[in-house]
Amino acid sequence: MTARILVVDDIEANVRLLEAKLTAEYYEVFSAYDGATALAKAVAEKPDIILLDVMMPGMDGFQVCRRLKDDPETRHIPVVLVTALDGRSDRILGLEAGADEFLTKPIDDVMLFARVRSLTRLKMVIDELRDREASGRRMGVIAGASARLGGTGGRILIVDDNERQAERISSELSIEHRPIVETDLEKALISAKGPVDLIIVNAMAKTFDGLRFSAQIRSDEATRHLPILAIVDFDERTRLVKSLDLGVSDILPKPIDPQELSARVRTQIKRKRYTDYLRDNLDHSLELAVTDQLTGLHNRRYMTGQLDALVKRSVLGGDPVAILLIDIDFFKRINDSYGHDVGDEVLREFAVRLASNVRAIDIPCRYGGEEFVVVMPDTGLVDAERIAERIRRHVAGSPFRVMSGSELLSVTISIGVAASLGASERPEMLLKRADEGVYEAKAQGRNKVIARAA
Ligand code: GH3
Ligand code: MG
Ligand code: MG
Repeated sequence: MTARILVVDDIEANVRLLEAKLTAEYYEVFSAYDGATALAKAVAEKPDIILLDVMMPGMDGFQVCRRLKDDPETRHIPVVLVTALDGRSDRILGLEAGADEFLTKPIDDVMLFARVRSLTRLKMVIDELRDREASGRRMGVIAGASARLGGTGGRILIVDDNERQAERISSELSIEHRPIVETDLEKALISAKGPVDLIIVNAMAKTFDGLRFSAQIRSDEATRHLPILAIVDFDERTRLVKSLDLGVSDILPKPIDPQELSARVRTQIKRKRYTDYLRDNLDHSLELAVTDQLTGLHNRRYMTGQLDALVKRSVLGGDPVAILLIDIDFFKRINDSYGHDVGDEVLREFAVRLASNVRAIDIPCRYGGEEFVVVMPDTGLVDAERIAERIRRHVAGSPFRVMSGSELLSVTISIGVAASLGASERPEMLLKRADEGVYEAKAQGRNKVIARAA
């Protein structure tokens, strides 16, 4: 797992040192010696991580960080602030400026690489989500709603067997958030599956293993996206590094500083909301991208993809695939006599009848207008024709109730059937034969199934 890292420091020797350490571990490094250049490179080079010195003449690290986090182009890039040793107030200012992490000078290699590894993982998740969101937007299926990115009002689960410490954290956080405390591990695992935005776990607990708990949270599908803030003694370096490698999102050093606590919590909650937002949009865009809005059936784009894959598989010696192309008879007359809305009602009712008459592995879709396609994996021509006949009867056999049941319409359909043939089959050919079947069914008076063997 490699990453592109922008190192920002006004002192050239510092830059060179970090550059040497990081390139030795196969990270790609580029640098800037002042804030303005850093901002320009962040936009132009799109680094995965930015290591940012706090003390710089002109624009200092806090200002640079704030500008990075204010710009939608760069706000998703994790920023590690490099502060002076023991710079507690620097840390708090940095968190308030939106920094994701801290390293203190002189930089400890083990900590450096632990931080960089954990942020690289985070960045990969965010990139993946952003990519997919961007392609959803290109397909025109994402409403460009802006994210609610606030860092307050979070539901926080505090897992700590030290009751006094837990209560202190809880009362501190209850000013801005809704914390709950669990002192028992089993109960905590259950609570984690409820509505939670952040888990704070004591990695130094006496009665349970906080790191094992974190690993459990990470391995469970229902909780793996939850951010975890681990309380670790800063002197316990191995434990600290291990926490980050286990996928803990951030470390809260002991003794706990209330300001640092609330700043770190705010950062984690903001980040969680950002990734949730991307993920929700993604789910929504995926659904929109494959579904026909009027009928709820799959759309043509989805069907085409599935059909391509199934035909390819059958060409390579796999199971045959059959398709039905269905066209509603005299549909224009329904629109003309009753109006477009009633036409829509008929399409919806037809979709219900269609979907309830095919197997779960079949793919019914709206091909366009009043035309529908069913893709049937693992099906030959004879079976497909039989299924088509059943659907035809199910439509013609009982009238469609429209206009809240005040009208009964008799509706019929014409169906063309085709199945994959041998090694030179192509999806377009299959669709073409089914289309010829429909044409012939129409010519023979409609309300008919015609299967085309070749
Ligand atoms: P045929 O039996 O030959 O198939 O005749 P038809 O009237 O069904 O065929 P034609 O292709 O002439 O007309 C299809 C009509 O379907 C025309 C179009 O306005 C209508 N249509 C297409 N999409 C929709 C839709 O989403 N809703 C409604 N209500 N009508 C639609
Ligand atoms: Mg038509
Ligand atoms: Mg028609």
